[in-house]
Amino acid sequence: MSTTASTGQRHSYGNYIDGKETASQSGEVFVSINPTTGRPWGTFSQSGATDVDHAVNAAQAALKGPWGRLSPSAKGRLLIAWGEAIAENAQAIAMHETEQNGKLLTEMQAQAKIVKDWLFYFGGLADKVEGRVIPLERASVLNYTLREPLGVIGVIVPWNSPTLISIMSMAPALAAGNTVVLKPSEITSASAFDLAALAESVGIPAGVINVVTGARETGDALVSHPGVAKIVFTGSEQAGRSIAAKAGGRLAACTLELGGKSANIVFDDARLDQAEAGVLAGIFAAAGQTCIAGSRAYVHRKIYDQFVDRIVRRAKQIKLGDPRLPATQMGPVATRAQLDKDLTMVAQALEDGAQILCGGKRAEVAGLEDGLFFEPTIFHETKPGDRIMNEEVFGPVLCITPFDDDEEVLALANGTRFGLAAGMWTCSLQRAHSFAKRLEAGTVWINMYRALAFNSPFGGYKASGLGRVNGAEAIEQYLQTKSVWCELGSEVQDPFVLRL
Ligand code: NAD
Repeated sequence: MSTTASTGQRHSYGNYIDGKETASQSGEVFVSINPTTGRPWGTFSQSGATDVDHAVNAAQAALKGPWGRLSPSAKGRLLIAWGEAIAENAQAIAMHETEQNGKLLTEMQAQAKIVKDWLFYFGGLADKVEGRVIPLERASVLNYTLREPLGVIGVIVPWNSPTLISIMSMAPALAAGNTVVLKPSEITSASAFDLAALAESVGIPAGVINVVTGARETGDALVSHPGVAKIVFTGSEQAGRSIAAKAGGRLAACTLELGGKSANIVFDDARLDQAEAGVLAGIFAAAGQTCIAGSRAYVHRKIYDQFVDRIVRRAKQIKLGDPRLPATQMGPVATRAQLDKDLTMVAQALEDGAQILCGGKRAEVAGLEDGLFFEPTIFHETKPGDRIMNEEVFGPVLCITPFDDDEEVLALANGTRFGLAAGMWTCSLQRAHSFAKRLEAGTVWINMYRALAFNSPFGGYKASGLGRVNGAEAIEQYLQTKSVWCELGSEVQDPFVLRL
């Protein structure tokens, strides 16, 4: 297949609009950095409002034209074919992502391979979007509903899982019949072009998926564009608040997938080997750069000292290095700004009186002296009001706190403005399901952590988001309902009486 993804080699990109790659109107570009080496990786178009306008116009034309004319089954088949093409090119896509965000190649490969499941699932749902016939009191009237797409969907994604999050957002939107303008993160823009090229290669019409690159200003132009019916945003709480306010100002809908400060609770009846692995995975996998990071661990006092010793010992053994190598367990953090944030938040935690058990500094990796590595870091003796306990670090920084009873730990776990996820480790069924009900989080894991599936809804409670991705309910977020009324009888309506 002669697609961008299969070549996998280029390092210079324009925007992808209406099936053509074009430079931004201003001709300005920006450079992305490989965080493992600290060196430039590639150049991308710095897009402004005019470029966004072109992309939205192309998406609107595709909606009224070739995409709009395809049957739902035909659209679904194209999404399934796209999924197969992405899986075949997973290696090239994953390499682009690892070279731009520093996450382990094995993780980016797994994500690039598995997104086909999202496209198969939502492709299969495309022709199962059905209206209803409403049994009205008035028997002479036929009333039914039509489920219609919203229009052009603006998709704004972060850098930590670019392909997975782009597909999680686009698959239900396209299955519902919408078209898309995708703005990838300025840190990891390359894989969006792989996805677009592969969509084109399987016959998804030009204009259905458009890609505009740039940073916040480009995203802002997309959010503000009157031709965009809905924004699906995944990213930080701060940006989410600003996007929701702006979209709300012009009455456009939003799905928001934001940050978290998730609790991981270890009870004294837990299988400690499983809990240990789960707490480590929760915070040090992906160098803590996941929205679902289990950054607050609560451990029952009876097992606290023993558990903390085990976790600290394992954290000190984590192998930092080149994320492309299979032996590496933790790569660099993605950007200089993220490294600075990790350092600042560690300093704040110390100021607030927390005690450090390991890490806390930039890490040196032989041969990768300019790489943005950060030591796996663990604090204890933090207080609920400390900044480190309330703000998302998005880095490999864990806070461990002891607790004495269930009610106490429930209040601690829920004592955050976030509500993305929570984990717990216990052998008591009663406690597990009672906590599952009372934890204020969109996802609750029992004796497991950091799992996700195409058919299980995902999203945040409280400040972690609005709406859901994944699962059958995700497609509902990209549809609007029309109610159609038809008088079948010969009765003449009284013009001055409302028909109820
Ligand atoms: P970010 O908010 O800085 O940027 C995300 C995207 O939004 C980027 O494409 C960026 O260019 C764009 N953007 C930023 N400000 C904008 C604005 N005001 N208007 C329009 N666009 C704007 O986030 P990030 O640093 O790329 O990603 C990390 C954040 O994403 C973390 O907070 C993490 O928890 C969150 N996240 C959430 C989920 C989830 O599913 N809930 C998944 C992954 C990451």
